[in-house]
Amino acid sequence: MHYAQAWLQSYPIIITRADFMWRFIFLALIIWLGIYLFKRIIKEARSHHAEASQAQDTEAEDMVQCAVCRVHLPRSEAFLVNDSFYCSKAHIPNK
Ligand SMILES: [Zn+2]
Repeated sequence: MHYAQAWLQSYPIIITRADFMWRFIFLALIIWLGIYLFKRIIKEARSHHAEASQAQDTEAEDMVQCAVCRVHLPRSEAFLVNDSFYCSKAHIPNK
């Protein structure tokens, strides 16, 4: 009887401590997960924004036409020789 009473008295304390510990771990895990997800969302939003602005840059870039095959290509990828654009070195006329 005395043994059972002692056990009953100590039991709630053990449970409370364990409960507190698990709540603390659970709370820490939720906070960590929240921060992790928040960072991931921000990172994704930034990468999407970078992709969007990059796509806009490509669209905004001047398109030029090859003097030989008439293909359209961005100005940065074209070869400018004697005020004429060429899509490849093969289309640049040899002098
Ligand atoms: Zn060409």
